Amino acid sequence: MNFRARLPSGSIVYSKQQMKKILLAAGILLGALYSCTSEKQQEQEQKSKKVLFVIVDGIPYDVIDSVETPNLDKIISEGGIMKATMGGEKDGYSQTPTISAVGYNSVLTGVWANKHNVWGNSIKDPNYHYSTVFRLFKNQFPAGKTAIYSTWLDNRTKLVGDGLLQTGNLKIDEHFDGLELDTVNYPHDEERMYIHLIDEEVSKTAAKSIAENAPDLSWMYLEFTDDMSHRYGNSPQYVDAVKKADFQIGRVWDAIKEREAKFQEDWLIVITTDHGREDDGHGHGGQSDRERSIWIATNAKDLNSHFDEIGQTVDILPSIANFMELDIPKDKAMELDGTPFIGAVDASNFKAVKNENEISLTWNSLSNSGKGNVWISTTNNFKSGGKDSYELVGEIDLKKESYSFSPENMNSEFYKVVLETPSGYLNYWIFEE
Ligand SMILES: [Zn+2]
Repeated sequence: MNFRARLPSGSIVYSKQQMKKILLAAGILLGALYSCTSEKQQEQEQKSKKVLFVIVDGIPYDVIDSVETPNLDKIISEGGIMKATMGGEKDGYSQTPTISAVGYNSVLTGVWANKHNVWGNSIKDPNYHYSTVFRLFKNQFPAGKTAIYSTWLDNRTKLVGDGLLQTGNLKIDEHFDGLELDTVNYPHDEERMYIHLIDEEVSKTAAKSIAENAPDLSWMYLEFTDDMSHRYGNSPQYVDAVKKADFQIGRVWDAIKEREAKFQEDWLIVITTDHGREDDGHGHGGQSDRERSIWIATNAKDLNSHFDEIGQTVDILPSIANFMELDIPKDKAMELDGTPFIGAVDASNFKAVKNENEISLTWNSLSNSGKGNVWISTTNNFKSGGKDSYELVGEIDLKKESYSFSPENMNSEFYKVVLETPSGYLNYWIFEE
């Protein structure tokens, strides 16, 4: 028998009494649903937030997409993976070499090399006025615990600047690194298997530290993938190295799952790579599409519409900040080059161009927020630790995605333009020839 045939045909008419009962029942149901979600929300808010970010070296998107990575897949199934680029604006003022330390520092500071001033692996003169995520975290939560597990010592001592005067004597609470300097226990073989052995120790120690101490903000760095691709290019050895990295990521992910099962903790993991590779897989450093090709994988639940766009290395810092509810000081927030993919977001891809006496702005609108403000400054004192004085250009309609104005009484060869939205700031620089 066809069940549908038994339903009365035509529209259903309810009496007022029946209608009241239905509305009452619906109200009770809605109320129950509401209290259920708000209880869940409360429970979530009571959990302590913990963040681990991971950098695996030199893996373009097409490689992570094609190699079997079961552990990464588990993480992605809870959140997602975003195609992204490293290298700032190609041919623009923020163009940034696709070199390892430059990539790490763009993750750490959320700005490109024209600001953080790390242009190569020798890390000559980082500009510590652009704070790392560790410093922003410690400024707000001095008692919070930080950790770095890394196959390269310079990540902590030079980029993060552990214990340096220039970072206000920032203290990383726990670290496991520098094994690459121990040539007795890790003799430097030509095949660079010692780097794999160090990645093993780094990932085991990270997993143990997470399971036992659960630092609030930590970073794990693994190197072997880059060594194999430099040596063998696109090759079975490189694919094998990516699988090894996935296995090592599985260790820390298991530790996170263990913590979440036992404790009231809400963990965010973000995994990325520092740069892509040339087409043959060997080198990197330039601005070809594949050298710029990276990705960002995460278990985050609160992904926003920017996650559907092409991301950038510098998006990671504001995303972690949103998850941890970091209050970034306004002058620092106005310098950040990324857009968060977690939490509230209103706009992305902000650009400014000057033609004759008119400055034209464009951006992508990502929310229904109505109004934003445009600010302009002709100084760059932030770079040397000072303050910039911004003038308000005017209020704009974010949904229009463009705006033009004439910078009156401002004759300058340099402009910093800032778009203020309800959820944050975007900035772009103009240099006059
Ligand atoms: Zn690298």
